[in-house]
Amino acid sequence: MSMQEFTNSKRKLIFVLCLLLFAGFFATSIASYYVSRNAIRQSIMVSELPLTADNVYSEIQKDLIRPIFISSMMASDTFVRDWVLAGEQDEDKISRYLREVKETYSTFSSFFVSDHTRRYYYADGLLKTIDEKDELDAWYFRVRTMETPYEINVDPDAAHDNALTIFINYKVLDYQGNFIGATGVGLTVDAVRSLINTYQDRYQRNIYFVDQQGKVVLYGNHVQPVDSSIHDFPGLDAVASEILSKPSGSYQYTHEENEVLLNVRFIPELNWYLFVEKNENEAVREIRQTLYLNLIICAVITAFALLMTTMTIRRYQDKLELMATSDLLTQLPNRQAFEVVSRTFMHDARRNDEALSLLLLDIDDFKQINDRYGHVAGDTVIRAVADVLSDNLRESDFLCRWGGEEFLILLKNCDGANALQLSEKLRLAIEMLQLNINGQHPVITASFGASEWKRSEVMDVLIDRADRALYQAKAAGRNRSQLA
Ligand code: GH3
Ligand code: MG
Ligand code: MG
Repeated sequence: MSMQEFTNSKRKLIFVLCLLLFAGFFATSIASYYVSRNAIRQSIMVSELPLTADNVYSEIQKDLIRPIFISSMMASDTFVRDWVLAGEQDEDKISRYLREVKETYSTFSSFFVSDHTRRYYYADGLLKTIDEKDELDAWYFRVRTMETPYEINVDPDAAHDNALTIFINYKVLDYQGNFIGATGVGLTVDAVRSLINTYQDRYQRNIYFVDQQGKVVLYGNHVQPVDSSIHDFPGLDAVASEILSKPSGSYQYTHEENEVLLNVRFIPELNWYLFVEKNENEAVREIRQTLYLNLIICAVITAFALLMTTMTIRRYQDKLELMATSDLLTQLPNRQAFEVVSRTFMHDARRNDEALSLLLLDIDDFKQINDRYGHVAGDTVIRAVADVLSDNLRESDFLCRWGGEEFLILLKNCDGANALQLSEKLRLAIEMLQLNINGQHPVITASFGASEWKRSEVMDVLIDRADRALYQAKAAGRNRSQLA
């Protein structure tokens, strides 16, 4: 494999690893986000919102049922009907009656409007005469013609500083069933409102009431849509008709990039729809933050894994390169390293116009050492010779293991005569080696061949000449040096 191929496959490996890690992390993070979001959505839709609606509804029933009964009793009271039929004599009587009702049942207000005189009576007497043209009196003319016995209406109360009031408007009929007026009680919406606000503040839910036409009639603080129709509210308008056609349902709509989950139920006593909704974005904010955190962690881990992989690969690469160019037994450079280094030596010698010499040495009768002491002892001898050679060379010289028990030395800035001199020094140093092999002390010798480089020569020729000199040294009796 070439270096280029290695680098390419390394890049590919890192890329695939990176992709796998990130894709894995990303997929699990996203999947768990969607699972959690659906679970949250499900719990909001199926339990949270309907539960809130139940609670609000039962509170309202508690608050409204009693006033409806009171108004119903007032409408069928024989005193009221007899007093009207008798010509509305002595208004003190009716106002005392209304005051009695108000105080006994502690309602916010009580009233009677006569159809004959259009007079509006309340606990303190005659309030006013109602007028068909007055918008504030429109309720009366609606009640007059409606088919149901009563309606519930939210209006400002003129008798009480225009406080927003829920009125129960009951039709009063004479004994023949003819319409003779309207009566009932009013109660402030404060109680309902504070209930709504409690839910809104505590659970971040939006609670409001909508009439059958879609108009928002009652709501807590800071609530949208205020005083408008759900038909005109962006997002809600799409499901408005469907909502108003059913007694209850769960819906989902998008308003200003917010997913809103909505539960609606019809409240027959009020003829209103109770809307309880929750912004999904707020509910899932926490898990969305978790998702972002997960993604950041996964990016960091991926980057870290990448760094570790790159570093590990580089370390192994360096080790492999070293292994490929060095000899395991002696830790000396090997023949491969020589190929590279020799080119530099020749190049430097040519450029600096310096001499360059080469020594080739071979341990004498090494087979006998192996045979007599064993292969392991042979290895020890090779290592010992390598150490002696290293110790006696200059930093600038290059020593390598050439073959089994053969070494090659390149001598920088060194001519043939000096090479021979050094060769003798090395030969003596090997001979002086104090070895201890299983209690025996064999004397090791080596033969040397030296050659000086000629400008025109290629390396192979220089080696060849040293090899021939070495052969001559062996032939001449070993343990000697020969210059080619
Ligand atoms: P000569 O004086 O002619 O060189 O005789 P010699 O016995 O040394 O002959 P030769 O160089 O041909 O033999 C080298 C022997 O070295 C042969 C081989 O088994 C042994 N040898 C080669 N490499 C190793 C090695 O790494 N370890 C050991 N223990 N022996 C080796
Ligand atoms: Mg040999
Ligand atoms: Mg030998």
